[in-house]
Order: sequence, then structure tokens, then C-alpha cells
Amino acid sequence: MVIQPRIRGFICTNAHPIGCAENVRQQIAYVKSEPHMNIGPKRVLVIGCSTGYGLASRIVSAFSSDAKTIGVCFEKEPTEKKTGTAGWYNTAAFHAEAEKAGLYYHTINGDAFSDEIKAETIAKIKEDLGQVDLVVYSLASPKRKDPVTGEVYSSTLKPIGQSYTTKTYDTDKDLVHEISLEPANEDEIAQTVKVMGGEDWERWIEQLHAAGVLAEGCQTTAYTYIGKKLTWPIYGHATIGKAKEDLDRAAAALRRGYKDIKLKAWVSSLKALVTQASSAIPVMPLYISLIYRVMKEEGTHEGCIEQIYRLFTEDLYVEVPEIDDHNRLRVDSWETNDKTQAKVEALWDQITQENFHQLADYAGYHSDFLRLFGFGIDGVDYAADVDPVVHW
Ligand code: NAD
Repeated sequence: MVIQPRIRGFICTNAHPIGCAENVRQQIAYVKSEPHMNIGPKRVLVIGCSTGYGLASRIVSAFSSDAKTIGVCFEKEPTEKKTGTAGWYNTAAFHAEAEKAGLYYHTINGDAFSDEIKAETIAKIKEDLGQVDLVVYSLASPKRKDPVTGEVYSSTLKPIGQSYTTKTYDTDKDLVHEISLEPANEDEIAQTVKVMGGEDWERWIEQLHAAGVLAEGCQTTAYTYIGKKLTWPIYGHATIGKAKEDLDRAAAALRRGYKDIKLKAWVSSLKALVTQASSAIPVMPLYISLIYRVMKEEGTHEGCIEQIYRLFTEDLYVEVPEIDDHNRLRVDSWETNDKTQAKVEALWDQITQENFHQLADYAGYHSDFLRLFGFGIDGVDYAADVDPVVHW
């Protein structure tokens, strides 16, 4: 089939197998062009391993530190008639490259929030790796089924306390407009914390530890976004921010709770980037288009792979990492520093429908969005007939 992007709202409903594979290869090539890690992880579990920051974490572990990796993700397999999800193709490509490099890999496709998938993962670690020395928690999901009660919780993206009116950019209609977001109620806040907070991360660590598959000195990290003034009303100080605060609580509990194995638990703050998760958040596409422009001008623009490579080499695997006053690891300072933010704020005030394409890096945003699904990548023939069915 000839596969062209099918965009619906903030999501692309298909993906290109060859483009996705090329994307993965480019990330691997980046990592290989940087110095190999002297001290790094060797047996790694990545929960949320198929796209965005989790995929980058798996690639850095494998190709910069020769780690054996087990990944967990939730992706759709392709059929003759319908393409798979990008994460499916990314994983297939990761497997192919790991195979060529002689690296161990295994991926479990299923609901990471469930105890069944946790048990399956633990069994595989026992069988093939014995233990793991790094657990990356990189899930982004709108829903979570509680494994104990069976109740399904949904996250919401709303401000807290008062309604908030701001500019946003509708990627589908190419339209800058105002939106007013009503504040979340207590239930919506609690549900968002249930989905994107630290409870499931703690459950993973609890079960991995109980099974004896966490090595002594094991590290674990979950990812957060802190941002600054422009994004606080809809992110940092909003429902999703509450969930992210809960990660800080969970990290502290993990540090206290697993002293027997000297577990190091971190929340790592990363920069805003176009991923499937962030493109669904109101305001973020506009903010990201502006921060891309400013950071590209400043020469500090990075993608997932560059961010994660720095996180591993400058924070996770150094003797004494620098932490902020909430014990977090930070690789987002090139975005969140006052000078850079002041430039974004100045642009933000000027943005209108008419000048959006001139003032913001719309082209950069759009091309990164398409790349997530394997489209718009140099060297890929998008007119060619390709087989959507790719197996792992
Ligand atoms: P993403 O959408 O690219 O990746 C999400 C991953 O989670 C995928 O591998 C997907 O398969 C997996 N997943 C989702 N639901 C699952 C389930 N039920 N079971 C198993 N796997 C499941 O998202 P991302 O942007 O890379 O986000 C990862 C983390 O990084 C999140 O915690 C996010 O808040 C954080 N973060 C993102 C940004 C950003 O700008 N994108 C910035 C800072 C931090």
C-alpha cells in the first residue's frame, strides 16, 4: 500500500514503516556519534519504550552502554489493510538494529498498568537477565485501569482553581485562537493523579523488588515536565502538574523504602518536545513552536535522543549528580532559563493568526510531528508501495 499521513485533530492515525525505521536508525546514529558511556546501565527495563522519551532511553542504554533491554509498550500490530502504530514500527526497527549489533532485546506489548504485564515482565527478567540495574518509567497515557479494583481512571488537562483563557494553536486547522479552559473539579484532579502520578511506578518497583529482580544499587527514573510561566497554568500548576508532583512524592517514598538494595529513585525533568503525548495538550503546540524557534536561534535545540543522552551521561551515571531543591535531575535548563523564556514571552505577546508562520517555528513543529509517524523523512519514497505488515 502507498502510505500517506492521515491526520485527525492532533493525531496521525497511520504510520510509515520505513520512515519509522529510518527515524530509529537516525537516533542510533546520533548516539553512536557521541562518546560511548564508560559507566552506564547494563540490564535495563524501559516501561513505555516504543516512542518519545522512552524509546530514546532504550536506544541510549543499548547503543551507548551495550545494555540488554526489555521494553514494555502498548502498540497496535499492523494488518494487510491497516498500518501499525508508529511505536510498533519503531520497536521492530529497534529489534532489527539491536540484532545486528548483537545486543539482547525483548519487548512486551500490553497494558503496563496491569499486574499481568508486570508478572510477565518479571518472569522474562528472571529468565534472561536475572536482574535489572535501571528501570525507566516513561508512560504517557490518558487512561489507567486500577489493577486492584478494575476501575478505569481518565486524566484531564485542565487548570486548577480558576478558569484560564489563553492563546492556542490548532494544528489541524492551522489556526491561532483563544481558548478558555474551565477549572478541574476534585474528582478530575484525583483521576489525573491516578493515571499519571506515581502510584503505578511504585507498584512496578514494589513487584520487581519482591521478585528479587532489582540489582543492588539499581536506579529508577520517571520523567516530568516542569516548564515555566507560560505553561504553568495548563501544565505545571494544572491537573497534569498535580500528577507530576505525585511523582516527587513517589520518588521520595522509593528512596526511603528500598534502602536494602540502595535504590536510587529520580524524577528527571525534560524539555518540551513534540511527541504523541505533548501534541494533545492545549497550548503546548504554540509554546513548542515558539521555544523551537528561540532555542534553534540560540543553538540549544535538542530532540528526545539528545536530551536522554545528556540525562544519562551528565546526571544518571556520574558520581554525584546535580539535583534541584526537590531532588530532581534537570536537563531542561536550556529551555527554562529566564533569558530564553523572556524571548518566548515577548514572541507570545505578539503572536496572531497572521504572523504565526513568521514568528514561530511552525515548519519545525510540523515536520517533527510528521516524523513521529515516519513521514517527511529524507530518503524515504512515500510514493512507493510498501508492505504495512512488519513483525517483531
Ligand atoms: P509518548 O506518547 O511518546 O510515549 C508514551 C509511551 O508509553 C509509549 O511507548 C506507549 O506505548 C507507552 N504506553 C502508553 N500507555 C501504555 C500502557 N497502558 N501500557 C504500556 N505502555 C503504554 O510520550 P512522551 O512524550 O515520550 O512521554 C513520556 C514521559 O515523558 C511522560 O511521563 C511525559 O510526561 C514525560 N515528558 C514529556 C515531555 C514532552 O514534551 N513530550 C516533556 C517532559 C517530560
